Amino acid sequence: MKAGIVIVGGGIIGASIAHHLAEAGAGADTVVIERDPTYEWAATPRGSGGIRQLFSLPENIELSRYGLAFYRDFETAMAVAGEPAPIGFRQQGYLFLSDRGGHADMEANFQAQAALGVEAQLLDADAIQSRFPAITVDDVALGVFSPSDAWIDPHAALMGFRAKARAGGVRFHAGEVTDLEADDNAVRRAHLASGETVEGETFVLCGGAWTAALGAMLGWDIPIEPMSRESHFFRAQDEIEDLPFIKTESDLAFRPEGTGYTGGVPEWSTPAGWNFELSQNHFETVVWPALARRVPALETLRLERSWRGHYARSRLDFSPIFGPWSGGLANAHVCSGFSGHGIMHAPGAGRAMAELLTTGRYQSIDLTPFGYQRVLDETPYRERGIV
Ligand SMILES: Cc1cc2nc3c(=O)[nH]c(=O)nc-3n(C[C@H](O)[C@H](O)[C@H](O)COP(=O)(O)OP(=O)(O)OC[C@H]3O[C@@H](n4cnc5c(N)ncnc54)[C@H](O)[C@@H]3O)c2cc1C
Repeated sequence: MKAGIVIVGGGIIGASIAHHLAEAGAGADTVVIERDPTYEWAATPRGSGGIRQLFSLPENIELSRYGLAFYRDFETAMAVAGEPAPIGFRQQGYLFLSDRGGHADMEANFQAQAALGVEAQLLDADAIQSRFPAITVDDVALGVFSPSDAWIDPHAALMGFRAKARAGGVRFHAGEVTDLEADDNAVRRAHLASGETVEGETFVLCGGAWTAALGAMLGWDIPIEPMSRESHFFRAQDEIEDLPFIKTESDLAFRPEGTGYTGGVPEWSTPAGWNFELSQNHFETVVWPALARRVPALETLRLERSWRGHYARSRLDFSPIFGPWSGGLANAHVCSGFSGHGIMHAPGAGRAMAELLTTGRYQSIDLTPFGYQRVLDETPYRERGIV
């Protein structure tokens, strides 16, 4: 098989790049190689699907703003042959709570967000209490509420990207890349476990938390590692008012999901690595107490399901690594390391990569600061908001 552009990894990042390439007229020249079209272990269907503009870095804020607008219109804009593409877009806002002394940073980030046009509100504890009576605020210094933020069903969005990209001429090929062959000048072909080869002119590595292994096939050191996170779905016994997606400095993150809630408390101190095994009692000893502390009505709840997924995290600074292989083969690109933000940033990342590949430069959001050059320079470009 031959293609102009070969995308390795067809999660939401690879599929969004494929869709945006199709929009740019390069669909028929693009192939996506994905080893598991059911996405059993991929991060995308295991993510919470939150879309928020509450960041400190301008690139992250801009990516979120584009993602929010994109997902708001997804159902109709991504229709294929008249079939709408519903993704459960729910615009119920995000609420950040400063409960661990970081209020100065949260306020500074709020100013940066406001300067870029984000319509968030800085709230003191009383204002939070009167707006959301279910929430305990006795330990909260301040909060930032962004009412236009939202969440979606990430699996539905992934399927929508795939279907639309296909309709635009992109080929999705089921297969596992086991090697990437290069000569001194360029990457030439991908070898698949089936024995097939895919020749290409440009390669984009989008393997999520597996991206470092793809880079290693070329001798390219991409410092992205998996970070395991446990999530839960639970129901409350009592009726609670409509809540936004709540994230606190003390690491509690949860939101409404259907008639229940989904969320958790990540264990940041756990070393990086693959771990799909559920913990014995993390929910009972850490998550549930944190939920009940923040929303007393959640003292009575029923845990229904837990699962693990992996953030793809850059060791350098937790920010994505994006663009060509500076100092290496010019036709090799990476688009990965989105930590907990790859669903919301997939539309903007896909558009930016399509711009880069079809016009040679970023046209809308300049993502140069996320480039691989900063890895070579050992210059972290770090998000100061809650990650
Ligand atoms: C618990 C949790 C909560 C999250 N919450 C949010 C949230 O609220 N909002 C948000 O925006 N993001 C969130 N995220 C992050 C988000 O899920 C990821 O950033 C995003 O899904 C990454 O997409 P991806 O395409 O890079 O990776 P993936 O979805 O993992 O896709 C990578 C694909 O590459 C394929 N692949 C790998 N190696 C090969 C190979 N050798 N050959 C062929 N194919 C290969 C894999 O099979 C996989 O399908 C969350 C993540 C987790 C784990």
